[in-house]
Amino acid sequence: MAENKKLRTPIVCVMGHVDHGKTSLLDKIRGTAVVAGEAGAITQHIGATEVPIDIIVNKCGQPQLINKFIVPGLLFIDTPGHHAFTSLRSRGGALADLAIVIVDINEGFMPQTIESLQILKRFKTPFVVAANKIDRIPGWRTNPEKPFAESFKNQSENVQQLIDTRIYELVGELYKLGFNSERYDRVTDFQKNVGIVPISAATGEGVADILMILLGLAQKFLESNLRFDANNPGTGTVLEIKEEKGLGTTIDVILYDGTLKKGDTIVVGSLGNPIITKVRALLKPRPLTEIQTEEKFKSVNEVTAAIGVKIAAPSLEKALAGTAVRVAGSDNADEIAKEIKTELEQVTLPTGST
Ligand code: GDP
Repeated sequence: MAENKKLRTPIVCVMGHVDHGKTSLLDKIRGTAVVAGEAGAITQHIGATEVPIDIIVNKCGQPQLINKFIVPGLLFIDTPGHHAFTSLRSRGGALADLAIVIVDINEGFMPQTIESLQILKRFKTPFVVAANKIDRIPGWRTNPEKPFAESFKNQSENVQQLIDTRIYELVGELYKLGFNSERYDRVTDFQKNVGIVPISAATGEGVADILMILLGLAQKFLESNLRFDANNPGTGTVLEIKEEKGLGTTIDVILYDGTLKKGDTIVVGSLGNPIITKVRALLKPRPLTEIQTEEKFKSVNEVTAAIGVKIAAPSLEKALAGTAVRVAGSDNADEIAKEIKTELEQVTLPTGST
């Protein structure tokens, strides 16, 4: 039934070595929608950016695919990096449903990226490898914003060979880590093979392909994780604790299940006993399309997953980034506090090779 098929937006984390292009890729993904004349359709959340499905399929030049996908879009966590992925957890494992592992194609994987790949393997998180900075390959002819395959056709044979050599080096590295991989346009089964997409975060080449693969991965492998019920009590993860002028201590949260309302009692993880408090305000960034005032944020009465939101509430000073936020009912706050405390005590990375 169509109703049952409603999925929440998958949460995506960008991982990779410093300077390999994480921030540039996120900027490009945000900018892409603006360039397409669809500014406003992209939603800036607190700590995250949402790219709706229609922008992605249009960007890929395949608007007809809109009916093929049942995920509403993709939600990118704005804090890129290994740290964001490993420390941000949902109850089942990593907070991110999907990952982009970005690597400078001219440098190859660095130790920290290898560690990221091992963690993705343990969590069984589907991911795509973005082999970035193809525009730096000697002789590369730039075709701004084009899908990789189109741009690749316009390259000299030498350049094409060089790209393939570099990709096979990455394939070799991935194989040592237990992944089969291939250039993405040669992958027939993404369950068996990791796709490697050559891209340039600077020129936008290949970026559309990344978005399309992420949608495909979400749809194929995550359906059950993404099924959610807006009637569930809100559940999320704390991204950051921030002092805000006029608001006091606030927490930036990614909500990944249910609904969170102003006035709700919430339980928030802390180093000591979890904090039990009441939501005083729920805040979103003020959209750029609105008249800008002194106020950075816009207050809303409720939010539904998946979304990034700022919560203002008393007693948040000792909240801990990476821990849970859960809405409590009239009589279960203490019980939830106990659960969050136990979860926190148990948090260690899963060990073992699989
Ligand atoms: P991060 O540390 O992983 O977030 O990397 P950044 O996005 O900050 O990129 C590091 C540097 O590489 C910056 O100077 C970027 O402008 C540059 N850069 C990133 N992606 C590309 C690319 O595709 N091509 C080129 N030529 N430069 C890039």
